[in-house]
Amino acid sequence: MKFADLGLSPELLSAIADSGYETPTPIQAQAIPTVLMGRDVLGCAQTGTGKTAAFVLPMIDILNHGRAKARMPRSLILEPTRELAAQVSENFEKYGKNCELSMALLIGGESFTDQERKLDRGVDVLIATPGRLIDLFERGKILMNDVKTLVIDEADRMLDMGFIPDVERIVSLLPKIRQTLLFSATMAPEVKRLADAFLMNPKEITV
Ligand code: AMP
Repeated sequence: MKFADLGLSPELLSAIADSGYETPTPIQAQAIPTVLMGRDVLGCAQTGTGKTAAFVLPMIDILNHGRAKARMPRSLILEPTRELAAQVSENFEKYGKNCELSMALLIGGESFTDQERKLDRGVDVLIATPGRLIDLFERGKILMNDVKTLVIDEADRMLDMGFIPDVERIVSLLPKIRQTLLFSATMAPEVKRLADAFLMNPKEITV
């Protein structure tokens, strides 16, 4: 299996080549074509399997092929910790370097002013921890009516950290018609319950 067989655009293939990756990992080989088709994904994968690229690469491709009229966020990635959110944003910049997309990293412990200024300018993607996203929403800084792709990453850690009520609230603010990708290292019953509530006919991928 080669990256070129997965349906990604040349802009993405060139960024992948620059990253030095030669072959897709199993989660990438299975998830990338599925996400590009628009289908929901329930991925059971640990950190280290290449799961970040498995959702970031096709998400960038989808965003790059559609343009929002006003620059309202079209994708939302939820991460349980600031560190993970920051890592995903670095991946987003690396893989998206040939595409003109803008992203806001919305995490606690950083000033509201910079994040709000970024949001005011308009972004395509939000990469956020649940608490800060809700704070910014309550300050009237975030409109999520145009979000078409949602990623809930590390769902089991969201659960352990007590973020599920926040995640449920955020999902209730999103359009019902959307694509949802949920990743978790384990499929505890509570994670499965979330998946049943948030995903529609997902492709289940376990690596
Ligand atoms: P992740 O599971 O997303 O945290 O990724 C783990 C590490 O694998 C990161 O350092 C990535 O840069 C790297 N990586 C992701 N995909 C590939 C690939 N196809 N080939 C080689 N390394 C990769």
